[in-house]
Amino acid sequence: MVSTSSTTGRGFEYAPAPESRAIVDIKPSYGLFIDGDFVDGHGSSFKTISPATEEVLAEVAEADDADVDAAVKAARKAQKAWARMPGSERAKYLYRIARIIQERSREIAVLESIDNGKPIKESRDVDVPIAAAHFFYYAGWADKLEYSGFGSTPLGVAGQVIPWNFPLLMLAWKIAPALACGNTVVLKPAETTPLTALLFAEICQQADLPPGVVNLITGAGGTGSALVSHPGIDKVAFTGSTDVGRIIAKAVAGTDKRVTLELGGKAANIVFDDAALDQAVEGIVNGIFFNQGHVCCAGSRLLVQENIFEDLLERLKRRMSTLRMGDPLDKNTDVGAINSGEQLMRIRELSEIGDAEGAERWEVACDLPTKGFWFPPTLFTGVSQAHRIAREEIFGPVLSVLTFRTPSEAVAKANNSPFGLSAGIWTEKGSRILQMASELRAGVVWANTFNKFDPTSPFGGYKESGYGREGGRHGLEAYLR
Ligand code: NAD
Repeated sequence: MVSTSSTTGRGFEYAPAPESRAIVDIKPSYGLFIDGDFVDGHGSSFKTISPATEEVLAEVAEADDADVDAAVKAARKAQKAWARMPGSERAKYLYRIARIIQERSREIAVLESIDNGKPIKESRDVDVPIAAAHFFYYAGWADKLEYSGFGSTPLGVAGQVIPWNFPLLMLAWKIAPALACGNTVVLKPAETTPLTALLFAEICQQADLPPGVVNLITGAGGTGSALVSHPGIDKVAFTGSTDVGRIIAKAVAGTDKRVTLELGGKAANIVFDDAALDQAVEGIVNGIFFNQGHVCCAGSRLLVQENIFEDLLERLKRRMSTLRMGDPLDKNTDVGAINSGEQLMRIRELSEIGDAEGAERWEVACDLPTKGFWFPPTLFTGVSQAHRIAREEIFGPVLSVLTFRTPSEAVAKANNSPFGLSAGIWTEKGSRILQMASELRAGVVWANTFNKFDPTSPFGGYKESGYGREGGRHGLEAYLR
């Protein structure tokens, strides 16, 4: 079913190189992971499907209020002993989890690609290794909390809700620092991608993690809402859309729950005329087509210095035409499936708004598979700052291209956004990088690279991109009193 981009200009075709699906054992149905065991939920169930084929993968329990309550109680019961345990002992569990993730990395990567639609080379080389690295990193902090600068007293029970774009990685970002600090957690994965979280539950059992330290409840928005408003949790950690972030901020206002929100973005990727252009093109492609553009910090607004616009655009289109789109399990695939029919509709709708607003659409010529959810790598030129495709998060493989003349114009345009999560700068001048970085209102600024993630480095946003930082020493602050 592989649908590759136009072969025009390519010297040869690749033969299919599919990763074996046989390494994963997907059960027909899954319960909830509460107090160290898989239990049947009291609510109904829902199906998780493969976005590349629309095949039903499994039936998953939808946690209702009673299930959420049971999970929070289990986390509460386990918390005192977990917090009393010497940090060096908690660290052993985290190291064990990290090593099991590494040992089972191939299995996890295949499962992630099947359930999410992302190319196997990304789940294999990015999601899974960085998830393991988070557990290694925070294991190292568990016995050194008094040197963190944030004290060493845990908050208690954390209710954590995550999105579908990096299912296991977002879980690791949430669970590793919480556990290292002596908190216990109830985590809800997104409804379209529950399978690697359920596999993670097995990993917790394999690591002999004390029951109740990690509880995983599946379900949709209603389950998430029941979790964040449960009176038994001390901390809410949410990653997802700005709209839902607002609802959660309202739901916890007036309570003593601590909150961190990691929300949407509309990053500017700024290319100056002195940049190494072919390198910049790689960074632009990685910035917006990595993970089908389902990336909160995606470089979805390209700002190009006007005098190199034509040259850069030609190089970019040529490079985009070599992207291979298709079977997520094929090791040659660069762009996989859109995660859900709902997300595909949103991408289509915003792209049509771009057409209607007068921007010019160019997309890679390719035959899309007839089954599953697909959208070709696309760019829009003739985009003005007022266009909705320049302001709203599309969360798909769609790039809006704008131009600028001077560094100050680039800064003004980059900052002209309700979001402030990330930005990229491409130039050979170190002084310009430092000046721009100090003026860009973005939580992360990459220079001559893009979408680089490291557990030692804090990540988070300004403005409507949320508040609080995850990762690095800063990430401990959200879980310590
Ligand atoms: P979403 O907000 O629709 O859903 C996120 C999670 O919240 C899901 O688990 C969902 O079930 C749950 N949820 C929905 N309604 C809820 C409610 N009322 N109360 C509690 N939980 C609720 O977002 P999405 O579509 O899954 O993810 C895409 C969004 O996530 C994008 O906006 C993206 O930018 C953002 N994101 C941000 C970061 C970051 O670190 N800043 C990282 C990844 C994704």
